[in-house]
Amino acid sequence: MGDAFEISDELGPEKVMYLHDPSTGLRAILVVDNVATGPAIGGTRMAPDVSLAECARLARAMTFKNAAAGLPHGGAKAVIFADPRLPTADKERLIRAYAYAIREITDYIPGPDMGTDEIAMAWVHDMIGRSVGLPRELGGIPLDEIGATGYGLAVAIETAQSHGGLPLDGARIAIQGFGAVGRHAARYLAQRGAVLVAASDSRGTLVQEDGLDVEALIDWKRRGHPLADFEGGEARDRDAIIDVDCDVWIPAARPDVIHEGNVDRLKAKVVAEGANIPATEAAERRLAERGVLVLPDFIVNAGGVICAAVEYAGGSQREALSRIEEKVRHNLDEVLTRAKAEGTLPRQAAVDMARERVCTAMRFRRPW
Ligand code: NAD
Repeated sequence: MGDAFEISDELGPEKVMYLHDPSTGLRAILVVDNVATGPAIGGTRMAPDVSLAECARLARAMTFKNAAAGLPHGGAKAVIFADPRLPTADKERLIRAYAYAIREITDYIPGPDMGTDEIAMAWVHDMIGRSVGLPRELGGIPLDEIGATGYGLAVAIETAQSHGGLPLDGARIAIQGFGAVGRHAARYLAQRGAVLVAASDSRGTLVQEDGLDVEALIDWKRRGHPLADFEGGEARDRDAIIDVDCDVWIPAARPDVIHEGNVDRLKAKVVAEGANIPATEAAERRLAERGVLVLPDFIVNAGGVICAAVEYAGGSQREALSRIEEKVRHNLDEVLTRAKAEGTLPRQAAVDMARERVCTAMRFRRPW
């Protein structure tokens, strides 16, 4: 299973739990990493094969993301070991058993993640009265429908203008992955005058140097067609997106897509990390050497978790968007200012900022 204590340090993890219920077959793990800033928000994943060490790393990533976003929430992650394609009745039984098992861990607020969704969160809420990412009918703000993370990305790229970025009006954008994050980023960027010159999905890349019709493309994709079959552009293979001549490149698909083997093919001046850890450490260093401004994932893709925190506090959709704008702008400003002053990579400045916030919050807690 790996070892959660590989990342054990002064921040956490605070709790590592193994949950087993023989009557339903539930097997799950929960890592509550740090709750100094408040009860932890983090996804509950359903997957057959996540190690405890990976769960602990994901929990730490949530500690940093929530602290960096200035939310009153710590970080945690849970994994239910099961195939997410289980028949609905079996899935419901497992999720309800899981919710019951964590009923007393009140400093953990579950959210949706890979293999779980708003319906799963409604079951959890029904059992224990706490979860985020709920259906609208239960006060939820559907973050992928409103494009919370894509909105934050657009705000971030706009904010980067005054830190060596570039004006959005006329900026040429390429987006890898046209799902919840990618398509909304495209929409919010187009509203700010940017031009989408290429986009890709798991089946191919579509390029149009004069600019793609973003709304028509979103509609095309919504109807289930492969992106590259869209008539208004030229089809290329899936990984050709990395070679596209553009100003801003947005990874919004999978981890580690920019690595030492392909980093020098990127032509953009700004990389805005929509996906989690889309570039290896070495690739981020190489981009910095080449003068490419990298906007770190957990600062600029925090729109989703900010939205979840607003939902938990009983806020509205409008409040969520305004909070995303305010927090992403402020935090990215601080990170890029620090990175410049200290001569470090933006990611290092972001980690330092998040760690300091958590350490400061820890000093406010009673010492026993
Ligand atoms: P999604 O499943 O809605 O969309 C993913 C898109 O990527 C799809 O269009 C898919 O076809 C495409 N894709 C998959 N493999 C690809 C490949 N190799 N090349 C090109 N395209 C590929 O997922 P999402 O919610 O948009 O999330 C995208 C990424 O952003 C994930 O890494 C996720 O963890 C991260 N993220 C999402 C949110 C959120 O609010 N949804 C928040 C923070 C981070």
